[in-house]
Amino acid sequence: MTHCNFYINGSWCEPAADYTLFPIINPATEESVGTVAMGSKLDADHAVLAARAAFDAYSQTTLAYRTEMLQKLQGVFERRYTEMAQAISTEMGAPWNLAYDSQAECGPGHIKATLDAARDYPFEVKSGNGDLFCEAIGVCVLITPWNWPMNQVVAKLAPALLAGCTVVLKPSEFAPLSAKLVGEYVEEAGYPPGVFNMVYGDGPVVGAALSAHPEVDLVSFTGSTGAGIAVAKAAADTVKRVVQELGGKSPNIIFADSDVEKSVALGVMRCFGNTGQSCNAPTRMLVERSIYDHAVAVAIAAGTQIKVIQPSEKGDGIGPLAMKRQFETVQRFIDIGMHCGAVLVLGGPGRPEGFDKGYFARPTIFADVTNDMPIARQEIFGPVLCMIPFEDEEDAIRIANDTPFGLAAYLSTNDREKARRVAKRLRAGNVSVNASGNEYCNPFGGYKQSGNGREWGRFGLQDFLEYKIVNGL
Ligand code: NAD
Repeated sequence: MTHCNFYINGSWCEPAADYTLFPIINPATEESVGTVAMGSKLDADHAVLAARAAFDAYSQTTLAYRTEMLQKLQGVFERRYTEMAQAISTEMGAPWNLAYDSQAECGPGHIKATLDAARDYPFEVKSGNGDLFCEAIGVCVLITPWNWPMNQVVAKLAPALLAGCTVVLKPSEFAPLSAKLVGEYVEEAGYPPGVFNMVYGDGPVVGAALSAHPEVDLVSFTGSTGAGIAVAKAAADTVKRVVQELGGKSPNIIFADSDVEKSVALGVMRCFGNTGQSCNAPTRMLVERSIYDHAVAVAIAAGTQIKVIQPSEKGDGIGPLAMKRQFETVQRFIDIGMHCGAVLVLGGPGRPEGFDKGYFARPTIFADVTNDMPIARQEIFGPVLCMIPFEDEEDAIRIANDTPFGLAAYLSTNDREKARRVAKRLRAGNVSVNASGNEYCNPFGGYKQSGNGREWGRFGLQDFLEYKIVNGL
């Protein structure tokens, strides 16, 4: 049994006042594997004040020092890599290959991208008759979700520390084990007290207190659109910078001139990857009418191949949903899909055969979905794919953009000109043509209600910097 407590001003500590213990549930077994101390407004205050007290000295350190410290942190992430994969697999149910090859890799991956970006970043440049200084913005609150825990924590933490900011991390209460390791890694790297602080707690209490705190200069938030709006409102009175990375309902346009079997099968795999719990999952597959029936058959065949496995199992497959709340949401949307006119062609309600406990869901595909159905409009965050026919290029673009979200979009065609034309009209921050992936040096973030920030590499670094022009030096 692991107990997760806070890290404030260089020490591990329990909450300041009376507190509750939140159970850490292994989603595959539904058994408790530990507890998280849930903090209060007072704990949020202690953590922010520690970060504020450390800011003056840390922000004035040299870039060379902060680079060396981040390299040390990278070393610890690499040395204790397996522990991180294990923690992620336990807390949110990622099967071993996913946890080891992808989830844990995000930690050192983002640190390297930040170090690379910093190497030639114009921190101090001439601008007209003045000198432009890009400086640490101040005390930063990092609020993160559970679905790709190291992706979200380190994509924020690495650039914040490199820029010279001091931080308070409030990780998801559903992903406390990986966050605890981050605290241990920072301590082992030797950062001065107060530079990194961490409090656990729920959103409405600790998250809200941090967002509203007058001594905080920036909140970098990743999570659902509803919580992101609450953070922005709580932060508004103190005019701090709020960077939001929010939900998605990403379209995947399959044109008839693409390699249909490959595009559809990859689309299914990408939608179901991480058990459908990725913000940029291609959950709406838009298929040109002339190949629609064939595409549905290919999708069913591809979906049938996807194995549901225990997190401890090696090899390809999807694990359980991360928590009971998520399992119930997915079941509710499957029920809605079955009653709103869509055609269930694979999966459906309940657990897959052979699973009598754990938050395992069946890979599910709905055909003949229209874009106004709730299953096409709302983020389900589970292994549920909606297949929607379209008539022509114009219709595909219209349906793709007809969503409040704008995080990612995918398209498959063998016509390069068409790919360029369509990509330019899609209102999304990341567009993937013919299943190409994104690299850590490129921006990640959304349009519309998917957020207003860009993370990763030099784009992530920018969020944590203020710009100061000094004339007359
Ligand atoms: P969530 O919004 O429930 O919680 C995210 C974090 O915000 C948690 O730490 C939570 O405690 C905190 N929080 C909740 N309410 C809050 C409030 N009122 N004030 C302050 N903090 C609050 O989201 P989740 O279930 O943890 O994660 C899934 C969501 O995150 C999905 O919507 C997914 O699309 C989104 N997401 C987005 C990205 C991206 O980069 N755009 C990446 C990953 C996940």
